[in-house]
Amino acid sequence: MTNKKIMWFRNDLRISDNPALIHAIKIGNVMPIFIYDEEIHPHKKIGEASKWWLHYSLESLNQSLGGKLNFYQGQPIEILQKLHDKFQFTHIFWNRRYEPHNINLDSEIKKYFKKIQVTVESFNGSLLWEPLEILKDDKTPYKVFTHYYRKGCLINALKPRKPQDCPQDLKIFKDNDSLTLQDLKLLSPINWHLKMQKYWQIGENHAQKKLKDFVKNSLKNYKNGRDFPYLKNVSQLSPHLHFGEISPNQIWYHAQENYHEKIGEKNLDHFLSELGWREFSYYLLYHFPQLPAKNLQPRFDDFSWKKNSHYLRAWQRGQTGYPIVDAGMRELYETGYMHNRVRMIVGSFLVKNLLIDWRDGEKWFWDCLVDADLASNSASWQWVAGSGADAAPYFRIFNPILQGEKFDPDGEYTKKFLPELKNLPNKFLYKPWEAPTEILVKSGVELGKTYPHPIVDIEESRNLALQTFKALKKTDNNDKLQ
Ligand SMILES: Cc1cc2nc3c(=O)[nH]c(=O)nc-3n(C[C@H](O)[C@H](O)[C@H](O)COP(=O)(O)OP(=O)(O)OC[C@H]3O[C@@H](n4cnc5c(N)ncnc54)[C@H](O)[C@@H]3O)c2cc1C
Repeated sequence: MTNKKIMWFRNDLRISDNPALIHAIKIGNVMPIFIYDEEIHPHKKIGEASKWWLHYSLESLNQSLGGKLNFYQGQPIEILQKLHDKFQFTHIFWNRRYEPHNINLDSEIKKYFKKIQVTVESFNGSLLWEPLEILKDDKTPYKVFTHYYRKGCLINALKPRKPQDCPQDLKIFKDNDSLTLQDLKLLSPINWHLKMQKYWQIGENHAQKKLKDFVKNSLKNYKNGRDFPYLKNVSQLSPHLHFGEISPNQIWYHAQENYHEKIGEKNLDHFLSELGWREFSYYLLYHFPQLPAKNLQPRFDDFSWKKNSHYLRAWQRGQTGYPIVDAGMRELYETGYMHNRVRMIVGSFLVKNLLIDWRDGEKWFWDCLVDADLASNSASWQWVAGSGADAAPYFRIFNPILQGEKFDPDGEYTKKFLPELKNLPNKFLYKPWEAPTEILVKSGVELGKTYPHPIVDIEESRNLALQTFKALKKTDNNDKLQ
């Protein structure tokens, strides 16, 4: 066969609305490949929960491609060179990536193949608006979400591309030297991931079904319901989006075409704006590539974070003595996911009550989340810490007792993940240390034994955080963003 083409799948593990695949298939004679390269960012390897998801996502894509997905492992440029030596392909198609390390890698590969007359064609397969398209009138990037989204994207930019169907006739071929999916060894031999299996159905078809169910049944109460972790009012599409099993365009248009907002209702608008936050995270990562590692506001470089491995471990294991925090951390460890409201509560607790560097929180999330995403994770942690663009002000410190009482009043979510507190009356659920001894005994709770005492005092730690913050030099947030 002559005129072979490569379709390189990366974070776009789907066959519908995949612009690179659609273009490749039009020309025909395509070899679909996936290269497993652990390094996502310098010194940052793919997390354990993500590896588990990736395995099943690749399995599902391979099935959609009739078992003809080719697997390789190693440095992408070397693999592609070897494939070129063997097949003399004339084109490579891919959808663009936006992590700084991957941008550099892709431009090196493009340069190399251009020199040897191989055409590289790249497409936008994972964002509604690419970061370079959205700039302020003075051609600099936005730093405030509302201006970026409402003005930059919704008013000034073109509408997002409409999704396209999957090509009918997939003329693709298999390389006999391809590795198998099992050769990539994405599944840990310890089998810890088995517990996550019951929470998720992975792959493009399941992502589409989840979208449809969400729009039909849950979107109608999204604006209010999304803050309550025990309600089923969020889509849980984040891991599917991260791995590209579904495109944001498919979500954007399906929601608009199938949910008709009544006057004064804000469910659809709010849901779409959350996709906007995802876009904004990628936008920040693109324009401020130091986002995963450095404070966007340099005054935070002087912040005296505490190195306390005992506190960090208690937080990671869900043993802080604050039930809503512990429930969230155990949800994460058990399922690979945590509800957004609870992510904000546990983040605030780590950074503000324990004074631990947001990068330690980011690292733990990175390893445990099935939706771990360099852009959204770093941008969200900087938002929580107050060091990011358009971030929560440092003095906004969530009180885990009040947050629990407000957002999980009957303890449905909290007791699910902290079964040792399931008999405690709701009045004391978020402050078990205030419960009279007879109630603790009756509920089977022994503080310090079956459930920990609080590791810090909430008021004292709050005051210490405020003092530490006040000691920082005052500079204007946005002017100082680099
Ligand atoms: C400390 C912290 C860390 C986070 N880390 C990640 C991460 O690694 N990966 C990740 O995808 N999200 C992250 N988020 C954002 C958010 O919590 C998740 O996207 C959301 O909870 C996913 O659930 P969902 O799909 O049900 O969201 P829905 O409410 O159904 O929203 C739909 C989609 O919009 C996007 N979205 C929603 N909220 C946000 C947000 N605040 N920022 C960016 N995108 C958003 C997601 O892609 C999501 O799937 C983080 C938030 C915090 C506070």
